[in-house]
Amino acid sequence: MLDHEFSTTLLTWFDHHGRKHLPWQQQATPYRVWVSEIMLQQTQVNTVIPYYQRFMQRFPTVAALAEADDDTVLHHWAGLGYYARARNLHKTAQLVLQQYAGKFPETIELLIALPGIGRSTAGAIIALGTHQRGVILDGNVKRVLSRVFCVEGWPDQPKVQEKLWHYADSLTPVERCADYTQAIMDLGATLCSRSKPACPLCPLSVLCQANQSNRTAEFPHKKPTKVLPIKSTFMLIFHNQIEQQVLLEKRPPQGIWGSLWSFPETADISSFDPALHSQLMLDNNSTRQWPSVRHTFSHFHLDITPVLIPLSKGHISIMENERWHWYDLRQPAELGLAAPIKKLLSKLAAL
Ligand code: SF4
Repeated sequence: MLDHEFSTTLLTWFDHHGRKHLPWQQQATPYRVWVSEIMLQQTQVNTVIPYYQRFMQRFPTVAALAEADDDTVLHHWAGLGYYARARNLHKTAQLVLQQYAGKFPETIELLIALPGIGRSTAGAIIALGTHQRGVILDGNVKRVLSRVFCVEGWPDQPKVQEKLWHYADSLTPVERCADYTQAIMDLGATLCSRSKPACPLCPLSVLCQANQSNRTAEFPHKKPTKVLPIKSTFMLIFHNQIEQQVLLEKRPPQGIWGSLWSFPETADISSFDPALHSQLMLDNNSTRQWPSVRHTFSHFHLDITPVLIPLSKGHISIMENERWHWYDLRQPAELGLAAPIKKLLSKLAAL
């Protein structure tokens, strides 16, 4: 029977070649598995490992994460991108603490009701964190199954997903479900890679329809391409050179870089707030524009033009509060900063 043959073949391969030393595989708990799964969405294993280790050191339990403040959580996430993941992680930790006394629920339905947990992440938490039967369908698994069964269509289309979930569910065994889950993820991450699958080394080579018909390059089908729109903004870097401080503004919780700290922005430099302008005693002659940098989000490009504005003496009439922060370049506070902001601050500190 194909299902049985598929899982036993994969498990035998896993016993010899699977990954067993990833940090989240050690003392695996639903909490540790959950954090790793969220970090691994859109991000490679090697990039995630140091972030994961720092995160676990700072937030070893769901309670430690729930009780931390927003800025500390975002600071430990900064650089991984897709910050909604960090905000959801924080919210979910608080809900798990309040509603489930710090213990993750163990059913798919209750797990997917928590912010940021989809069906596949819920399946991974159950399979890898509790060793019960759970089914996953992450990017690696989608690629393997699309090839093994020559599944036509872009895997994120609802109809195609449905088909892939059907295969994923029917192939996942009850026995050794955690190992099977790790095995299929490992196969996708190592042999069944995106551009050059190593089919001659693959334990599924005989079962794999794409390999048998010489069509591995066709699967999974590519996402229909679309041209991303371009937006632009000026980021205003108010720099007190004497105190080595820079003015940062907290972004609203919704939208890009939600709740992270950034520079004040304006889409039109000529219309920049005149009140703030005079309050800061700006010397227009000394402002300088830096070359624009492009940051690409999933749905648009953002062209950022930094404008360096050195401040005159006695400028600090903007008080720190929940919205404004004077960031000390010599002794920086632990704040959530998006990657391009971090880069600009490093450039400034090196001037
Ligand atoms: S035979 Fe090739 S394409 Fe098929 S699952 Fe294995 S590595 Fe992937």
